[in-house]
Amino acid sequence: MSGGDKLEFEIRRNPAPVAVADRAALLASPGFGRVFTDHMVTIRYAEGKGWYDARVEARAPIPMDPASAALHYAQEIFEGLKAYRTVDGGVTLFRPEANAARFVASAERLAMPALPPEVFLDSLHRLIEIDEEWVPSGADGSLYLRPFMFASEVFLGVRPAQEYLYVLIASPVGSYFAGGVQPVKVWVSPDYTRAAPGGTGAAKCGGNYAASLVAQAEAIEHGCDQVVFLDAVERRFVDELGGMNVFFVYDDDTLVTPPLTGTILPGITRESVLTLASEAGLTVAERPVTFADWQADAESGRLREVFACGTAAVITPIGHVRFPDGEFAIGAGEPGRLTMGLRQQLVDIQRGTAADPYGWVR
Ligand code: PMP
Repeated sequence: MSGGDKLEFEIRRNPAPVAVADRAALLASPGFGRVFTDHMVTIRYAEGKGWYDARVEARAPIPMDPASAALHYAQEIFEGLKAYRTVDGGVTLFRPEANAARFVASAERLAMPALPPEVFLDSLHRLIEIDEEWVPSGADGSLYLRPFMFASEVFLGVRPAQEYLYVLIASPVGSYFAGGVQPVKVWVSPDYTRAAPGGTGAAKCGGNYAASLVAQAEAIEHGCDQVVFLDAVERRFVDELGGMNVFFVYDDDTLVTPPLTGTILPGITRESVLTLASEAGLTVAERPVTFADWQADAESGRLREVFACGTAAVITPIGHVRFPDGEFAIGAGEPGRLTMGLRQQLVDIQRGTAADPYGWVR
């Protein structure tokens, strides 16, 4: 297909979908990432041929040749976004165009073909349409959508592959904070970094997460929920968490987040928070924050609140920070006023219970 063309999807309904009663039981407590809907989307790509063979079909294992390039050289990218059930029974997506654009940017960094954003968006709509009954109702649940793409060419040479498979699967998920929003404790990794200048930090590729797991395991060993990565050059500046961006709220109502210099993921929640906060009259700044200042400002009280943000948990207050030489709290370690206000504003827009002045909801 050439750029801008529409790709026709062949629909092959799952002949054996999950029974209605079984689905209801699964939706009652889906947890995260273990329950899947009845269908998936697949689209193939081959050099010279472009994107072809777009299908909505029964979710099933993907046959893989052991020499498939992705298994060896990790040419793989993904996205993550949620479909929400609105109070009037509809289904909405939050800024899916931003995920489509980031998917293109990730593909370019990994020397992969760009999936046209209109095909990406079409795939989301097709899957939601056929699996709509899997979007949980109720205030907390959502349908997590996982688009991904990998090098499927059977070839062991090290070069960009010439064949790819795009897949979209969906997984109903429950509330991230079952017992109400809880501040998390974070671990500042002394040994591991996530991304270096010129590397793949701004791309959403599986390799970034593979590299972060040992640091995340270290965080858990130290009684923390999430790891904080510092910059790879000076080990002084705060980059981001393993799977979330970070914001600092100061006592003069200034909101600061690290700039997009290529080593952190350009989070869609991050960008939405920047917009909401500046509209609310706060001073917002994208500038580097050192770990030393984080600690000093927390101890002096100048730093009031710190939160992490991302699709999974929307906004998560950070209550305590632990590092090899000690630990400090942010404020009283409780969720902050501004953090919770921004969180509510975002959730209300996503769920359709508040106006959407930015046209974010689809
Ligand atoms: N940073 C990393 C490393 C992430 O994996 C994510 C989750 N996609 C984020 C930040 C937050 O991005 P978003 O708000 O787009 O979910």
